[in-house]
Amino acid sequence: MTLTDYEAVPAVGADERAARTGTVVMKFGGTSVADSEKIKAVARRLVDAREAGHRVVGVLSAMGRTTDELIALAHEVSPNPDPRELDMLQSVGERISCALAAMAIHDLGHRAISLTGSQAGIVTDTVHTKAKIVEVRARRIHEALDEDRIVLVAGFQGVSTAYEVTTLGRGGSDTTAVALAAALGAQYCEVYTDVQGVFTADPRIAPGARKLDSVSFEEMLEMTSSGARVMATRSIEVARSHNVRLHVRSTFGEAEGTWIHEEDEMLEKALISGVVHQREETVFHVRGTLPARLFGALAEASVNVDTIVQTGTEEIVFSAPPEDRADVERTLDELGVEWSVREGLGKVSLVGAGMKSHPGIAAKAFATLEAEGIEPAVVSTSPIKIACHVATSDVDRAVRALHEAFELGQPVD
Ligand code: ADP
Ligand code: ASP
Ligand code: MG
Repeated sequence: MTLTDYEAVPAVGADERAARTGTVVMKFGGTSVADSEKIKAVARRLVDAREAGHRVVGVLSAMGRTTDELIALAHEVSPNPDPRELDMLQSVGERISCALAAMAIHDLGHRAISLTGSQAGIVTDTVHTKAKIVEVRARRIHEALDEDRIVLVAGFQGVSTAYEVTTLGRGGSDTTAVALAAALGAQYCEVYTDVQGVFTADPRIAPGARKLDSVSFEEMLEMTSSGARVMATRSIEVARSHNVRLHVRSTFGEAEGTWIHEEDEMLEKALISGVVHQREETVFHVRGTLPARLFGALAEASVNVDTIVQTGTEEIVFSAPPEDRADVERTLDELGVEWSVREGLGKVSLVGAGMKSHPGIAAKAFATLEAEGIEPAVVSTSPIKIACHVATSDVDRAVRALHEAFELGQPVD
């Protein structure tokens, strides 16, 4: 059994919900704003959208690997950085991008304003480094748009209900963009990145991967929560709840990307949409407690539990992302339970809405892995997903083998 715990939907102020015609939210990821030339190109793209008659909100990520560098810097200073201060530090990255883009837009003869998450009205809960958006107060953005400005919002951050700077977890600029699109009643949200869209597998691993024209919210939720980092899982949850259509596309070209929307709108209903991987996931074995107590305590510690397997009353097995490992270990120690951790495992998942009505997918997946000499350590399923934990060193090979066995590189008729 797999349990995926999705976030509560942020509230959107009633007066702000009224759609103003022609609003678009355009989000640019780290590689799209990696240097000053790229920021100028992004400015051009935002201006083009304005000149085409849209009210334009740009959400930018930090330049290149800035966030990684800031986190590394924090760890050079302190082995266990204070989460509040870590948020103060990390939130700077996206502010730099926005201020620079605003300058570049001015030079193109347009008005622009950069806003921090807090200034943009992104209100979050108080959990540092993985805060959830509870509300978007978009009045200031509306005012700036009414003044004919292009608005640049620093992604990945907000202000908590306790007035602290918070960040939304890695990849959080996607969530900023989608929440803003919902709050502003935007026509759609464009997500500009370094690939052409959502592929049947990570194109860096499976060279034969094919770009999908469209994917349903449900499939995308399974894909992202199983490791397809092309979008942040929470952003898809917010998009689904508020029915925000998403267009994932390349910053470095004009081609159509992948539309993510409700299943009804889909033309292409593939049996399997993709094979997704996660190179590292920590698997914990716990004895001596009941699930309610264990998962209650983990939820309290804001741990993002993924796979849960319980075969009897004796042992509970669950997985969590590596960045949550310290929180898990502290929680298990506090509970006083007997536990062990299994390292060196990653996860490969097959995702597809068509799986619901097709038996035999699991059998074929296991046969494929067996033929490769790969033995799954933990297996979990949902109606549209089969996930296998395998050795980290086998992950890439498993992705390629499954991609080929299910002929995912071939166009769907
Ligand atoms: P950004 O900085 O624009 O937010 P990310 O690095 O977060 O970009 O996400 C884009 C990356 O996601 C791609 O470079 C690609 O390697 C990876 N990726 C993983 N799985 C997929 C997939 N199924 N389709 C497309 N990209 C994927
Ligand atoms: N800069 C943050 C990160 O690298 C947020 C984002 O890019 O979405 O995770
Ligand atoms: Mg990203």
